[in-house]
Amino acid sequence: MAGSFKTDRGGGGMGRRKVCRFCVDRNLEVDFKDAATLKYYVTERGKIIPRRISGACARHQRELSVAIKRARVLALIPFTVSGQ
Ligand SMILES: [Zn+2]
Repeated sequence: MAGSFKTDRGGGGMGRRKVCRFCVDRNLEVDFKDAATLKYYVTERGKIIPRRISGACARHQRELSVAIKRARVLALIPFTVSGQ
């Protein structure tokens, strides 16, 4: 038990289809204070995961990138380690 927290709701049946979870779950919003959610969209090095991999739609991906940048400033998530 390493203290990881899973927010798996509902009972399976989901294939490998990538869907924007913010569009699927109307209650879910992009929140720069929600580091737990934002971490799904950054790599271990703190890079933002591209849309085709994250599955986020264009609109939410954009909101995510803004939120992630804010979260970095607040040190909620790490800055990118690599050069740029
Ligand atoms: Zn979306």
